[in-house]
Amino acid sequence: MSPIDYIKDFRDSKRIKALAKLIQNEVDRPINIMEVCGGHTHTIMKYGLKQLLPDEIDFIHGPGCPVCIMPKERIDHAITLAQDENNILATLGDMIRVPGSKSSLQKERAKGKNIKVVYAPFDALKLAKDNPTKNIIYFAIGFETTTPMTAALIDKVLKENIKNIYFHINHVLVPPPIKAIMDSKEAIIDAFIGPSHVSVIAGAKIYQEIVDLYKTPVVVAGFEPLDILESILWIIRQFKENRREVEIQYSRAVTWEGNIKAQQLINKYMQPRENFRWRGIGDIPYSALKLKDDYAEIDAEKVFLDILPNEAIDDHKLCICGDILKGTAKPYDCKVFGTACTPQNPLGSCMVSSEGACAAYYKYGKVKLVKEV
Ligand code: SF4
Ligand code: SF4
Repeated sequence: MSPIDYIKDFRDSKRIKALAKLIQNEVDRPINIMEVCGGHTHTIMKYGLKQLLPDEIDFIHGPGCPVCIMPKERIDHAITLAQDENNILATLGDMIRVPGSKSSLQKERAKGKNIKVVYAPFDALKLAKDNPTKNIIYFAIGFETTTPMTAALIDKVLKENIKNIYFHINHVLVPPPIKAIMDSKEAIIDAFIGPSHVSVIAGAKIYQEIVDLYKTPVVVAGFEPLDILESILWIIRQFKENRREVEIQYSRAVTWEGNIKAQQLINKYMQPRENFRWRGIGDIPYSALKLKDDYAEIDAEKVFLDILPNEAIDDHKLCICGDILKGTAKPYDCKVFGTACTPQNPLGSCMVSSEGACAAYYKYGKVKLVKEV
């Protein structure tokens, strides 16, 4: 028997069709499934999974993209910090394209501001060493998945006594927005597919509270089409067998407890933030992290407090990203989708990141059209 190919075998069209057929045979009620993570939205759109599945299965796209949920005022912080010629603002990929209240980091970079895209947090360390007379401000983003890398960078910076690097922490957590969405009762959600890489770090245990509170199955799933389809089958079976559980489909790397060492490293330096405003969703208490007070000397929000704007800024009035992130609208419901708002000229954050629902619909939208014609 040949060894499993973890890419090809999980994208094999015969297996995909067979699993879709099994789902068709077994489903006996409508199920609205929120895929929390933009990575899953991307796979669903790319492989046309909605089209393969029976009408009883509907997908609701969730708030799991760190770029999509970043409120304008945090982008404004980054832009403000980059105005000082003593500073170099460093951040990851797509974040530089997200519109703030008046500009984006990309536009400011084009004007000559010192803004660097890094590919991993540790690149900021090299920047600090290469530019000893500048303040490097690392604009840290991401869910539980990327937080350990920021924590590891903080650890290194403190151990090596590097004095010219500061952290603007924007790390967010997956369970609190799920609870906020369920508590709002605006969207009807029967079950969740949770992102596997978040649980590689935080464990599958983080979803038990969701199951207990809302009686919704949660399946922690990998990112390949077969992973998602298998998770849907497991959700159907939970309903048929009258079970409501957290299940781990992505057992290739996810455990119930997660990576304890990574969790300890995060907890050493960070703690939950009393409040974080999610773009389009609003204030969610304890839904993000901040540096502990003991590390105030490297906390950009404290060191540069005097210059940071603190006004909360709403999205463009035509943008319905908030409704999309809450599961009450789809990208095609937006009046400016694909016209005034495109990946080249995004009006809202969901069109920026490749993991954003609007960007995924824009890129793979033809697949949807095939079904609608
Ligand atoms: S950061 Fe991870 S959880 Fe969030 S959208 Fe991207 S892939 Fe999904
Ligand atoms: S298409 Fe653009 S403006 Fe409309 S919801 Fe998506 S990001 Fe916002």
